[in-house]
Amino acid sequence: MSSLKGKIITVVGSGLIGRSWAMVFLSGGYKVQIYDNIPGQASGAITEIRKQLDELQQAKMLRGNLTAAEQLSLLSSHDDLQQALEGAFFVQECVFEDVEAKQTVFSEVENLVTESVILSSSTSCLMPSNVFSRVQNQTRCIISHPVNPPYYVRLVELVPHPETLPAVMDVAYSLMTDVGQAPVRLRKEIDGFALNRVQYAIIAECWRLVQDGVISVKDIDLVMSEGLGMRYAFIGPIETMHLNAPEGMEDYLQRYKEGMKRVLNTFGPVPDFSGEPAARITKEICELIPAEHLPARRERRDQLLMELAKLKK
Ligand code: NAD
Repeated sequence: MSSLKGKIITVVGSGLIGRSWAMVFLSGGYKVQIYDNIPGQASGAITEIRKQLDELQQAKMLRGNLTAAEQLSLLSSHDDLQQALEGAFFVQECVFEDVEAKQTVFSEVENLVTESVILSSSTSCLMPSNVFSRVQNQTRCIISHPVNPPYYVRLVELVPHPETLPAVMDVAYSLMTDVGQAPVRLRKEIDGFALNRVQYAIIAECWRLVQDGVISVKDIDLVMSEGLGMRYAFIGPIETMHLNAPEGMEDYLQRYKEGMKRVLNTFGPVPDFSGEPAARITKEICELIPAEHLPARRERRDQLLMELAKLKK
């Protein structure tokens, strides 16, 4: 949406996700004013962002049409919330995952901005009606939930508060599209949104299969990484059903629905994620990937995500 171009976005909270959002918005040519309530933290974030932008430029992975220096020139850091909010049309909150902290931030922000400013939260698993409960005008509130790391994983879940105006969803959708993210709209709030509900369903069944001695940790992870995950990077489960029978979805349902229902009816209860099974599964994964290998594994994950993002362009 070209009318948004060059506008100002305020990022509140300069941790992992605040810095990532700042980089995503800068790549789209937006001015970003980043604020943190720990003095000096936001300016430290600029140092970190500069380093990352330079590395991305060298690796030819910088997003957008601007150079690293041009993007950096659009960024400013603030220890004062009022200053950070000056001129902004969109506020992306990225503070700790704590409902009270978020409620306090949004009531402070609301007092410092005009009615038209959109208030957006990065929360992973708090409901919009809780996050925005202390905001007077809830029609301009929205959750824009990113996936880590947002620079390579483009999905953003847009989740409305029950009062959110459709026009607010539309602006958030246009903004996210404009900066190269892949937004999806939830039509109403639900605990876990869509991504975590699906993720938790997968985790639960993987956990039960290992817990019940059906398969090892190593092999269940291969079921995803060498099996389902190979196609899920490009097509979703519903399209997979449509493609997996010669005549498409109706054919698939006719062939497989009884089998799906039979298997689904054998699923066990929600796991406890504690006690002996948790100790056993933790031991197994730690033997496969000792703690000292985690940083290298994360780096490798990000490199592969980068390659995948290139392939998907
Ligand atoms: P983080 O701990 O890295 O950063 C939080 C930052 O917020 C810190 O710099 C802190 O100083 C600052 N802060 C705390 N209270 C503040 C306040 N009142 N005003 C201004 N700044 C304040 O956390 P994170 O991982 O960046 O997560 C931020 C949000 O993003 C959380 O809601 C989290 O659930 C969500 N999220 C995280 C991920 C992830 O994988 N890390 C993914 C998606 C969404």
